[in-house]
Amino acid sequence: MTEENAMTGGGLDEPVGLHAFAARLPGVIFQFHRDHNGHMHFPYLAGSGTGLPGIDRDRLSQDARHMLERLNAEDYPRVMAAIERSARWRVPIATKFRLRLPSRRSRWVALRAQPEDAKTGVLWHGLMIDITEQMAEETRLRRLSDTDDLTGLANRRRLISRLDEEIARSTRHGTPLSLMLIDLDHFKQVNDTWGHLQGDQVLTEFASLSDRLLREEDIIGRLGGEEFAVVLPLTPLVASRPLAERLRAAIAEHDFGLSPGQLTASIGLAEYRLGEPRDTLIDRADQSLYAAKRQGRNRVVS
Ligand code: GH3
Ligand code: MG
Ligand code: MG
Repeated sequence: MTEENAMTGGGLDEPVGLHAFAARLPGVIFQFHRDHNGHMHFPYLAGSGTGLPGIDRDRLSQDARHMLERLNAEDYPRVMAAIERSARWRVPIATKFRLRLPSRRSRWVALRAQPEDAKTGVLWHGLMIDITEQMAEETRLRRLSDTDDLTGLANRRRLISRLDEEIARSTRHGTPLSLMLIDLDHFKQVNDTWGHLQGDQVLTEFASLSDRLLREEDIIGRLGGEEFAVVLPLTPLVASRPLAERLRAAIAEHDFGLSPGQLTASIGLAEYRLGEPRDTLIDRADQSLYAAKRQGRNRVVS
């Protein structure tokens, strides 16, 4: 009899060699037990994933800590909280975490488990699957959808979402926050004189120049066209003004490959006022920007 026949029994019924079948699953199926004292162990653990280096089934059948201590430090509290919640409310666990393995980089693992009462505590029945490749793909796609193609800066969507995060932080802790809007002056003329490709090149160079000049914590993004914004966390207006002024001067002095003094920028500044909606903050920075344009461009207005 071939191995395949031995495992399936030839029909559509249950596999005959359940043990051999479980051991071949592309993942791990398990029972996980937590007793009244909080001691945890895996009474059952099977699947090809148990063959990974660093996974010792015998030790895990005694003590789950051998696996829990391999969890990524960032993920550990979340996983423990999920176990706690599941034990208390008897709701299923659905979580994911990074597992450090001795020989390779850490792997992402998705875990699903169903709890039930046991005489000695709580018993879960569950499965784990390696999702490292999916997570890498997800990260790649997120980065693509967050990034402006031309300049590599955060795009509008990403910038607005970061602004919302910083507004929430500022509201929570009462910390200052400023917003800078930048619009390149007479950019249509740059295109008309030097061509659209050269215009694109200038935008890219402007992006890397600004990125270099700003601080690590500042978040710059391209709102569209030749308009950019910088979110300045923990920064009141008095501190953002000199920063904007330095940026304005650097742009005016930078050699973009156009004739001297050909590229300048106007900058509008506004500081977040506690409780105001995000769009009101953007509006106020925009009004400053248009005041800068009206007053003759190549200047900062707040
Ligand atoms: P102002 O000083 O009032 O801002 O004048 P401006 O010419 O910069 O203003 P306007 O908003 O009228 O024109 C912006 C120009 O920017 C128009 C458009 O051709 C150009 N532009 C927008 N996006 C791009 C881009 O991705 N690449 C290039 N090369 N040009 C762009
Ligand atoms: Mg514009
Ligand atoms: Mg412009």
